[in-house]
Amino acid sequence: DDAAGAARGASPSIAEEGAAPHCRCVDVSKERFRGMTKVMGDWRRSVRTKANVRPVTPTPEKFDPPSCCHLPSGEMPSLNDLLEPLRSYLREQTAREEELLNREPWKKYDPEYTRARRSILGLSADSLSAVMRRAERRQSSPPQHPDDVTHTSESHAQNRLDHFTSPSIAANAVRNTADTTGDVSSHLSHHLAFGTLSPRTVYRACRSNDDPEGCRWLIGHMEMRDYFMFYAWGEGADLFRLEKKMDDGGRRSAKNAREGGDRKGKQKQKQKQQKKKKKQREREPIQWKSPSSSSEARSQWVAWSTGATGLPLVDAAMTELHRTGHCSNRVRQNCASLLTKDLRLDWRAGAALFRFLLEDHETGANYGNWRYFSGVGHDPKERRFRTVSQARRYDPECAYVRKWMPALRDARSAEAVLRPWEYPEEMTDDAVEREGRYSAWRAPVVDPATQLTWHDTERVKETGLLVGDDGLSI
Ligand SMILES: Cc1cc2nc3c(=O)[nH]c(=O)nc-3n(C[C@H](O)[C@H](O)[C@H](O)COP(=O)(O)OP(=O)(O)OC[C@H]3O[C@@H](n4cnc5c(N)ncnc54)[C@H](O)[C@@H]3O)c2cc1C
Repeated sequence: DDAAGAARGASPSIAEEGAAPHCRCVDVSKERFRGMTKVMGDWRRSVRTKANVRPVTPTPEKFDPPSCCHLPSGEMPSLNDLLEPLRSYLREQTAREEELLNREPWKKYDPEYTRARRSILGLSADSLSAVMRRAERRQSSPPQHPDDVTHTSESHAQNRLDHFTSPSIAANAVRNTADTTGDVSSHLSHHLAFGTLSPRTVYRACRSNDDPEGCRWLIGHMEMRDYFMFYAWGEGADLFRLEKKMDDGGRRSAKNAREGGDRKGKQKQKQKQQKKKKKQREREPIQWKSPSSSSEARSQWVAWSTGATGLPLVDAAMTELHRTGHCSNRVRQNCASLLTKDLRLDWRAGAALFRFLLEDHETGANYGNWRYFSGVGHDPKERRFRTVSQARRYDPECAYVRKWMPALRDARSAEAVLRPWEYPEEMTDDAVEREGRYSAWRAPVVDPATQLTWHDTERVKETGLLVGDDGLSI
């Protein structure tokens, strides 16, 4: 309530506005968020100055569902129950294929047949089964140590929070580097997503810490998480729109909202809106492709979704995601940038795949971040990453890529890990044996020289040279 009110520049009570009929406890109707600033920076600033974080609710001795909550009661579904629809789908598909191939064995070689095979998110039956096996393993294997980041229970969440907010860790986390130690970021996202940890608890732990300054960034990340949740509620079904809404008055800061009454404020707001609309018109609209629209789009999608793009940082990230259900924010951003800004494939397909694979999936965080990177959100920043130079900065020792890409583990030089397609001789015999398909590294799905950020384009215009800030060629 505080955050929504503060971000809107007012504090209307829910009772005054009338609660939505579907839930009388918390009004999450779109109406309630009308007028809330939708630009992350503005939202965070106004919430930070005006909203208070409430105390942590004491653990109740007994849980009585609130009377306003009309969820039907019943048995908690088991993992088996949840996986059954996918299992039966795969069983049916295999049976159908076997029957067809028994009748017409030559169909196996017919590209039309391969294309027509129904699949979920373009993933093979093997990939889908591997994700199910991961979930089963996670449930059956006991945690290895108390702060095992992969387990989801309240005590694990608390242990992890205590461990990470101990002064030496959170404060010294080198957050802009690849996570190969497990302590570069908090790994609290799945606890927050499952509700085994609350953002208020994180906030209190940071504030009561011996080194509150060192933990300040974690509070900032809680704000970011809240922003994406409020954003999702505010957007309603528009969260899933492919295109940007051109008539949107998204950049309406709380200050502007307050100023709305006086003429000067209104004029200023109008000018800002006009400027924004002009910018939007100038920006070339993205021609999104559906992953199933052509054979090229299909093969690009398969390369991206299975970690076979030829760009080691993205391939390592997608491999980690398939195997563990997690990867760091920076590599998620790189994957999103490649899919949307370079391949121009429908960002919602990427978000749907992430929803299937991520153990920390949250609709607001996932779809909000995807919108942000696709340039269809409200944030005026246009972000595009150069995968190779990102890898050079983020993973300078190449430890992350070597960890997830066995074929590159023994490559002799860092350059060969960054651009393996240019160094076929560096693929050692061991690597070829271990992972045959990587023996001749595939050409990347996009030429890294074409991954130009806005700054790059400006630099080329000015100097005619295509070099990064660090003076290295891109
Ligand atoms: C394309 C894309 C999809 C994403 N999907 C999800 C998702 O489904 N669920 C999810 O929790 N996060 C998502 N994120 C945000 C972010 O990647 C993860 O929260 C973070 O990597 C989790 O690791 P951590 O707990 O170690 O994060 P830390 O860096 O330690 O951050 C602490 C907490 O702050 C919150 N947080 C941090 N960054 C963000 C962010 N950009 N957006 C929202 N919350 C943030 C998370 O709750 C996180 O646990 C996504 C990011 C991108 C680019």
